[in-house]
Parts: sequence; C-alpha cells; structure tokens
Amino acid sequence: MRDPGRRTEIVGLAGMIAPSTLDAVVSAATRAQPAWERLGPDYRADILDRIADLLDNVEIGLVETLTRENGSILGVSRNELLAAARIFRYTAEHTRAALSSPEFHSSGGVELHLQRKPFGVVGCIVPWNAPVILAAQKLAPALAAGNAVILKPSPFSPLVVTALIERMASLLPAGLVSVIHGDADVGNALVMHPGVRMVSFTGGGSTAKAIMRSAAETLVHLHFELGGNDPAIVLADADIPGVACSIVEHAFRRAGQVCYAIKRVYVPRDSLSEFVDAAVSRIEEISVGHGLDSRSTMGPVNNRAQFERIRSLHRKLSAAEVPVVTAGRKVDPESWDEGFYLLPALVVDAPPLSAVVLEEQFGPILPIVGYDDLDEAVALANNTEFGLASSVWSSDVSRASEVAGRIEAGITFVNGHALTPVAQQYAPFGGVKQSGMGWENSRAGLGEYLEYHSVHVVQPAQ
Ligand code: NAD
Repeated sequence: MRDPGRRTEIVGLAGMIAPSTLDAVVSAATRAQPAWERLGPDYRADILDRIADLLDNVEIGLVETLTRENGSILGVSRNELLAAARIFRYTAEHTRAALSSPEFHSSGGVELHLQRKPFGVVGCIVPWNAPVILAAQKLAPALAAGNAVILKPSPFSPLVVTALIERMASLLPAGLVSVIHGDADVGNALVMHPGVRMVSFTGGGSTAKAIMRSAAETLVHLHFELGGNDPAIVLADADIPGVACSIVEHAFRRAGQVCYAIKRVYVPRDSLSEFVDAAVSRIEEISVGHGLDSRSTMGPVNNRAQFERIRSLHRKLSAAEVPVVTAGRKVDPESWDEGFYLLPALVVDAPPLSAVVLEEQFGPILPIVGYDDLDEAVALANNTEFGLASSVWSSDVSRASEVAGRIEAGITFVNGHALTPVAQQYAPFGGVKQSGMGWENSRAGLGEYLEYHSVHVVQPAQ
C-alpha cells in the first residue's frame, strides 16, 4: 500500500488471503476457542492487561508507519497507539466486574444459573481512518468474552494492526487471533463462512447493507458501527468566536475523517458572519502537509475515493454558486500534488438540503447553516438517517442540555465534541437509526460479544 501523502512511495505490502486459506484460518480459530473460553474471565482479563502493557511501549517506527499508511499526523498516530493500550486495560476491568461472579437465583425449588457465553469465532472488519483504535475496540471485548477473532483490516491501513497482533501472539494461544487481508471479496467470504458465529463491522452504511444481505444466508449475529453526519447546534447565547474556534478544531481532526466528527453546524442567522469570520481565522492557522513533517497540523485524506468525493462536493457547490471559503497553509507547496492534500474549507450559509449538508462528507469541508428558529435547527439536525454523535454549544448549560435531549443520536456533547478517556471507558459508543446496531466501549461493548445461557435446575422431589 502507498503513502497517501507521497503516492509514489510504497509503505509496505500485505498479502491477500486466498479463499481456500480462509477455511484453515477458521478451523484454527474454532480449535483454539474452547480452551480459551475454559480459562475463565479472570485469566483472560489478566492476559488483556499484559497486552495493554505491551501496547504501552509505543515504538516510534510503528507511529511513523501508521502516519504513512493512513495519513494522520504523528501526534495523532502516537495517541492512537496509546488509546489501544487503554482499551485493553479498561476492558480487563469491565470483564472482572461483569463476569467474575456467575449470576445465580433460586426460588420455589428451581435454581437459575445465568451464564454468559462467547459466540465462538467472531469476524471483525474495520476501516482505515483509526485502524488501531477501531480494531482494539473489537479485539479486546471479543477476546475477554472468550471468543476467537479473525480480523480483517482495510486494505488502506493493514500494516500497524498486523504488526501489533504479531506482537500480541506470544501472549495468546496459536490460532486464537488471525489477521486476514483483502477487500470486499475477502470481507464477504468472512461474513458468509459457516464457522463464523458473529460479525462485528465498523465502516460505511452501504457496506453494512451488503453484509446484512450476505448474513441472511447464515443468520450470523451482526454488530455494526457505521457512519455519522454529526450536527453541532450553536445557541444564540454562545460565545460565538470561542465556539467557532472549538468547532473548527473538532471538525478537522484527521482531516475530517472521524466517524463522529462535527460534519454540519447550525448557527443563528444573526451570528452567521461573526461565526464564519472567527472560524476562518482559526482555519488559517491549520498547516496541511505530510504527517511526518512536524510543521503539519493536518495530513492528507487517505485515498483517491475520499479525495475525489470531496473535490466533487467542491465542484457541485461552485456550480450552484454556494460560497466556499478555503483557507489554511500548504506546508510544502512544491510536493502538494504528490499526495491527497486538500485545504480545509467552510461552506458559508449552506442550503440546508444540499448534498454537503445531508451526506457524510468525511473530509475537510464543513457546511455552516444559518437558522432563524431553534426548533427548526433541531428538526434539521434530526432530518437524517444518521444518528451517531452531535453537540450543542451555549453559555447556559441547562438550556443546552434540554436541547441535547431532543437530538436523535447515540451521543450528544454539550460545549465540546470529543470523548475523554473516562467517556471512552464508561459511555456506550454507537449510533441510532442507520449509524449502527449495538455499542462499543463500556460494559455494553463487552456485552455485544456474549450470549446468554440460562440453566434452570429443578431439584428432584425428596
Ligand atoms: P467501508 O465500509 O468501505 O470499509 C470498511 C471495511 O469493510 C474495510 O475493511 C473493507 O475492506 C470492508 N468491506 C468492504 N466491502 C465489504 C463487503 N461487501 N463485505 C465485507 N467487508 C467489506 O468503509 P471505509 O471507507 O473504510 O470507512 C469509512 C466509513 O466508516 C465512514 O462511513 C465512517 O463514518 C465509518 N466509521 C464508523 C465508525 C464508528 O465507530 N461508527 C468509526 C470509523 C469509521
């Protein structure tokens, strides 16, 4: 695969799996899983802690490879690797709390033993935008629950995930975790394999629909974390310049390629020009360049499809004569055309029903929509099939919280739009409507990888 910031450079190779080899991978996982399950939750939690210790030791080579495969700047890549360690550590804590003591009830001569059981072999399919975090959010709970895992990373970012799993292998039984490489065909073969009992997928909605169609053949259990089109609603009493700066920072992280990034902003019409002026001033400070260059504060987008999609939005807006302000600095203008670089852009007074507002743009372009009435803004925010995250910005926290309660989303932030480490540990992460089915992180995330087995024991008559 190639570096999205220097497309002539090959970062590494990942061998595609041959369809015939998948049977052997599933068989190895099927053989390894029962013994792993029998080891019990406490033992598995201890192994997760040891994996976390291993991941804490972040190697600069891996940070650089992550930057070169997905385009993020070095600081973001380093934080991503550290976040993976945290995910394994807090999943170990949840495992002990949730599974160490079996649940037991008895009444009227009947004993009820409530067992939590793993599915068996779980297929995990992840995208490229935060490949290590997204893989860890599946691997840790799936293993903690006693499953075997076959992970398929995106062909756009397969390298660091694979390297990390190679390092974990010394702590895990042979065959319990495998990584397979390939694109839709390989993902589809994994979904349809009769030995796979659950599929946990993070990615786009159209892929999820294809997976659901395939899953109809085997009725494999599905878990989806999908796209979002997160609205930010700015209330009239907000500190407009300060909020505009914060919103720009949250919207353009990873060049806008974050599933729960702010993707559209509703601003009182009277404050529109003040908001846009402040936002543009903040965008002017963004330096776009290769992630390895310490001067860069934003990297390229990850791949050609992303690049072309954002350019096509620009063309449509220009044809419709909607004003777009593009700002920011080119770190290395000479080599600008060697990568998928885009300057961050604001769409000023975007028509509320235009494509750039209604679609998940997943790149560095942010529509600002003026509103006259708050109820109208809430209705527009909810006028979508997405429901991942959202935010409300105001100086009056109780007023903002009341508005937050009216938004259809899995997550709503007030005066912010980022998960703190505590939120990652305890808040179920996921979306409503077409943004997902099920949850990640928190104890709810562990529960996704478990089934119930209730054993009802009737005592024989004396
Ligand atoms: P994608 O759906 O194109 O690909 C995701 C993964 O699915 C890749 O590994 C891909 O190879 C695989 N795949 C493709 N077709 C398949 C098929 N038919 N069967 C099985 N697997 C298949 O998504 P992407 O472009 O890599 O990622 C961007 C999307 O992911 C955005 O919509 C973004 O919002 C979403 N996302 C969601 C979350 C979340 O937690 N909700 C997190 C990150 C990204």
